[in-house]
Amino acid sequence: MLKFYQKVIILGLSLLLAWAGWKGLNALFYQGTASALNQSGEGIRMKKINKSLEDWKKELSPEQFRVLFQKGTETAFTGKYNDFWEEGVYLCAACGTPLFRSEDKYDHGTGWPSFKESFSEANLEYHDDLSLGRHRIEVRCAVCGGHLGHLFYDGPAPGGKHFCINSAAMNFKPAEEARKELPQVATFAAGCFWGVEYKFSQLTGVLDTVVGYSGGKTVNPTYRQVLSGKTGHAESVQVLFDPRVISYEQLVRKFFELHDPTQYNRQGPDYGPNYRSAIFYHDQQQKKIAEQVKAELQQSGRYQKKIVTEISPFRSFYRAEDYHQKYYQKKLGPICSNE
Ligand SMILES: [Zn+2]
Repeated sequence: MLKFYQKVIILGLSLLLAWAGWKGLNALFYQGTASALNQSGEGIRMKKINKSLEDWKKELSPEQFRVLFQKGTETAFTGKYNDFWEEGVYLCAACGTPLFRSEDKYDHGTGWPSFKESFSEANLEYHDDLSLGRHRIEVRCAVCGGHLGHLFYDGPAPGGKHFCINSAAMNFKPAEEARKELPQVATFAAGCFWGVEYKFSQLTGVLDTVVGYSGGKTVNPTYRQVLSGKTGHAESVQVLFDPRVISYEQLVRKFFELHDPTQYNRQGPDYGPNYRSAIFYHDQQQKKIAEQVKAELQQSGRYQKKIVTEISPFRSFYRAEDYHQKYYQKKLGPICSNE
């Protein structure tokens, strides 16, 4: 016969095991989905529009309001941008935030506009959506919170992203106007991304920053996978900036200043290809500037050794888990070893 205290211990252990099992199941279920992708809603944002639903209702068409603020879905093959291929940028129909570029648009055959990359990860939010009895990743505008559509990972290689977005949630801006008015995006890798993000975020003209993984092959990797050095990804920072206030060249110069570009696959005590120095250029103009600045610095005699910074085309950027975002501002833990 068991004594009372033995029964209590057995009951306690059973509860603990059940809880651990439940946590394990949850971890398995969410692996590679929004939790790995992160809920950016809790992140620190530079700007947010908070309007009442009544105000949005007055400003938007009934269909726009239904999609954006009642999480509606337009009927497949009926949206104005489903079969639309002009060059330019797609903006949030509610608040005008740039969301997607025409060069990332492709035909997924499902009847909704599809994109393989965002304009900037800073402009989107991701939320778990269990509404159809299965798990999906809901995509929202980070500035006004408007519902845009969903993100899947059955998109084209190499990135694998498939943003399935309602036409009604967007307005189109032709390329010529977009070039003059809209912010631009730069992507850099310079070792541990916490400190790199913080340094870029302090610059006037930088509108927002996001940390994530870029330059590798694994689709939607986790931090642990990237840390293993096997994904090909580098810890990276995506910088959203106003080119009227700060130029891409100024950002590139800052990038070289804030780390040691002569260290190969390493920054200080952080070793591995995930800590490599890299510039992922978004267009030919960025490529030219990055190469010029690198060559100029090499010739300047400022560095004793060869600059090993990789300059390669941007392909995809996967946002890192939420606890990595604005890590310094949140003062969550130790600072980077490259400080
Ligand atoms: Zn918006």
